[in-house]
Amino acid sequence: MSECLFCKIARKEIPSALVYEDEQLLVFKDIFPQAPVHLLIIPKAHCGGLSDQTPEIAAATARIPQLAAKLAADHGLQDSGWRLVSNCGPDAGQVVFHLHFHLLGGRPLGGKVCL
Ligand code: 5GP
Ligand code: ZN
Repeated sequence: MSECLFCKIARKEIPSALVYEDEQLLVFKDIFPQAPVHLLIIPKAHCGGLSDQTPEIAAATARIPQLAAKLAADHGLQDSGWRLVSNCGPDAGQVVFHLHFHLLGGRPLGGKVCL
């Protein structure tokens, strides 16, 4: 998707604070962090959100919880705890329509339905 913001980040057309990259997945810092650690984990290939996954995207997405656990440990969150969340659609407050997971931690995160 040529006009998609996160596709542009994945293609390095827009700069981001890159944290991790492999063939399928990219991790970068959220530009408006809601917690001391706030990373965005995305499949490099475009997908609008959790409801739009192809089998190929689902295979990449399936790796995200384990990658998030490693990144959380790398950022010192293993004992304090962390949250992995993906907003899907308007009621969930999704703003960028390229599938992404927020990895949050470094402070008490409050109510379970809030970022
Ligand atoms: P959503 O509400 O769609 O789940 O979250 C989108 C996230 O993308 C927000 O937390 C927002 O701060 C982040 N974001 C929006 N534009 C940019 C950008 O250009 N660069 C980075 N790194 N994050 C962005
Ligand atoms: Zn995209």
